[in-house]
Amino acid sequence: MSYTGRELIYGALYMNSCRTANIERFIDHLTEYQDLDETVLPREFEEFAQRLASIVDVDKLIATDTDAQRRLIATDLRLLASEGFSERNLPESVEHGLTSSEKTVRDRFEQLGLHPVASKLNIVERFPEPFDKFDWAAFAPDREDEQEFGIPQGIYFKRSRLRPLYSQALYAHEVIHTITGQVDPHVYVGGLEEGIAEVIGTCYGGLAMMPPKVLKNMLVYGRHGVERPKIWSLYRDHTRQAMLLYCEFGLTGLSTLVTRGREAIHAAAATVLDGSYKKLDLPRGKFDSDTLSILEFACLGFIPSYAYSPIDCLLALHVRSGMTVTEVSHAASIDPSIAKERISSIASESALFVLNGSKVGYSNVERLLSAENQASVSILRYVPGKS
Ligand SMILES: [Zn+2]
Repeated sequence: MSYTGRELIYGALYMNSCRTANIERFIDHLTEYQDLDETVLPREFEEFAQRLASIVDVDKLIATDTDAQRRLIATDLRLLASEGFSERNLPESVEHGLTSSEKTVRDRFEQLGLHPVASKLNIVERFPEPFDKFDWAAFAPDREDEQEFGIPQGIYFKRSRLRPLYSQALYAHEVIHTITGQVDPHVYVGGLEEGIAEVIGTCYGGLAMMPPKVLKNMLVYGRHGVERPKIWSLYRDHTRQAMLLYCEFGLTGLSTLVTRGREAIHAAAATVLDGSYKKLDLPRGKFDSDTLSILEFACLGFIPSYAYSPIDCLLALHVRSGMTVTEVSHAASIDPSIAKERISSIASESALFVLNGSKVGYSNVERLLSAENQASVSILRYVPGKS
């Protein structure tokens, strides 16, 4: 069993819906307090995360975003600590988990009539030139890249970016690119193909390896993160487009499109925009309810915009109908002298509650928190600052 603290925290994040709206910054802040590259035994993770939470947390009246952020990060860590990893259910290492996905993913795609060519899985320290400049976790060079740059075809993962669960779902996503890459590798990948790789690869393929809940969390962190590189919002937008095609044609239609290659996918993308996609000459079938449920949540159901600065998030979490501003600030352990202005600004920006003088009048915060609880999803989120 070989896991670093960082790997186990990422694994626990994917199994839980935390309030952080930027997981990389969340991890970066933790490294200010703890070396996350040290080995942690899975059975000791709970103790490790609890200890780290008590180091990160603050023990004073909160008056700054930095301190509010420490409180919220500590609260997230305590949620992660409750995960209680069982060594029986974990692969030997992240790398083992990833290599064990190869056959599972292949078998899963065969059910759709997709026959991925054998693609060597390479776990490397750095990507071959000229792709070493990109900040990707994985990529799948095709025949064109082999001819142009001398990079053997296959699927490449950067070792430093391996994460439990995530890398396995990403592998399924990359396999879709290897199929289109066989048809017309000279056509530049991207756009709608990324969305289709998310639907068939990450979602349908991922379901063969992990529960829907994990994939939903993965998509929220990865596609609804705040102040993360724009490319991930683009992946989300193209997933929405692919969902339209999925709802009309099912996995059968999307798989057929994949086997037709990149030119056909780019042409289909134009029909999604002009609204004529229903007339595409694609077969319909294989509507998978679990895949649909993930897409509905990630593309439509989740509300990404309740994301605030740490101090605003902490205050909003403690707002209740009938409370005075001073009572809210006490409940949140925030200095009352800064709370008044912040609470009134949250009220006007979010319409989550109404401030009547110094008192909270109507409030939907209670309903939102109850809905969060029912769905085990964090909607009120905080955006950690850069470290
Ligand atoms: Zn991709």
